[in-house]
Amino acid sequence: MTQKNHTSRREFLRAAAAATASLALASPSLAQSPARVVVIGGGFGGASSARALRQLDPSLDVTLVTADRQYVACPFSNEVIAGDRAIEAQQFTYEKIAAGGIKLVAQMAQTIDPQARTIGLADGSTLRYDRLVLSPGIDLRFDALPGYDEAAASRMPHAWKAGEQTLLLRRQLEAMDDGGVVAIVVPATPFRCPPGPYERASLIAHYLKTRKPRSKLIILDSKDAFSKQRLFQAAWQELYPGLIEWVALSQGGKVTSVDPATNTLVTDFATHHVQVANVIPPQRAGRIAEIAGVTDKSGWCPINPVSLESTQVPNIHVIGDACIAGAMPKSAFSANAQAKTCAGAIVALLAGATPTSPKLINTCYSLVAPDYGISIAGVYQPRNGLFADIEGAGGTSPLDAPRDVRAREAIYARSWFETIGAEVFG
Ligand SMILES: Cc1cc2nc3c(=O)[nH]c(=O)nc-3n(C[C@H](O)[C@H](O)[C@H](O)COP(=O)(O)OP(=O)(O)OC[C@H]3O[C@@H](n4cnc5c(N)ncnc54)[C@H](O)[C@@H]3O)c2cc1C
Repeated sequence: MTQKNHTSRREFLRAAAAATASLALASPSLAQSPARVVVIGGGFGGASSARALRQLDPSLDVTLVTADRQYVACPFSNEVIAGDRAIEAQQFTYEKIAAGGIKLVAQMAQTIDPQARTIGLADGSTLRYDRLVLSPGIDLRFDALPGYDEAAASRMPHAWKAGEQTLLLRRQLEAMDDGGVVAIVVPATPFRCPPGPYERASLIAHYLKTRKPRSKLIILDSKDAFSKQRLFQAAWQELYPGLIEWVALSQGGKVTSVDPATNTLVTDFATHHVQVANVIPPQRAGRIAEIAGVTDKSGWCPINPVSLESTQVPNIHVIGDACIAGAMPKSAFSANAQAKTCAGAIVALLAGATPTSPKLINTCYSLVAPDYGISIAGVYQPRNGLFADIEGAGGTSPLDAPRDVRAREAIYARSWFETIGAEVFG
């Protein structure tokens, strides 16, 4: 009995030693199993982030989940609306991204379980992640402006997500009479691309001036000041005198309800019946951010600006329009810069290191006419949990610049788009 026990114990110890040895053999390969980083959203933020992750650490297992096989970019979509550019120039595919070793999943991510670190996809399958990057862009708040919902958008296009809506607004401008009124409704901040509505007003004014010169454009604004305001207004005076009317919040510019059946826009001061109504409604982070639990009551996502990691849910990073970035505007340039910072932080965190505090740059170009560009630039660093301006860095185009400087800025704007498109999508 005793002997038997000894034998059993010897056998047990031998078996345990063998198991330990096999574990010891197994553990290096386990340690080497590549970390899984999933990126949701294949726009400027998400696609940049997937690429930067693989560039910084080619051993990472990177998956890019994005709703469509083709991305339609918003920058320069105002030129499509004004008839000076084809929509095809806005379209990008993910083929080059996939060729770079990134797994591409072309479907909607529908659920996220931060505890299990899993993502539920539209086809019912599941993806696992060690770190998740969310770059879902914006969703429109269809509940925020009485009368404006998804159905209303087919009469009063927002064109704030590029594609079908861009073309709809274009067709409406083509169909309107010479002498009609176009209105652009602008929400309160924060929203995607702060100078975007005023660039759009400028390029539509260019179209009206050259094709339907008896027409007018009215901007109904929920704000009293806007990005590059002095530059825009000086250019409007020079290029489109009497054509554009800007109605600020304090002058009754805030639209309180709309009626798509009659193309009517109501403010506290007036009722505007217009021929073309471009209604840009209030916005929030793309819905998947809320599902993941990374939005706060503002509808946007608070982050640690050093790592872009959510302050609410660990292991989830939020970049681009969806995040609360302080002084950094919601732009493609910002999304791209945040994506690179975030990728660096993720690689550091996976290696057990602490990410270093970054400095990021943004430049927003706007076209006021096809050969007339203006810009605003900024440099930012983390301060008090947000990105803050580095005082004295950046600035706007000079107010009194001659026309050849404006023409050069239009060229810089176009080359910026070519460059970022090539960098992000290949
Ligand atoms: C008219 C206009 C002009 C602009 N001009 C400029 C400019 O000149 N310069 C500039 O820097 N910026 C400009 N912008 C802003 C720029 O378009 C955005 O800031 C930028 O696209 C933000 O990138 P993002 O990655 O956050 O979101 P997006 O580019 O919107 O990408 C989000 C992607 O995620 C996908 N997605 C969302 N949810 C899911 C999900 N659950 N599953 C899978 N996929 C999902 C979406 O389909 C989309 O493809 C402009 C915007 C507008 C509207």
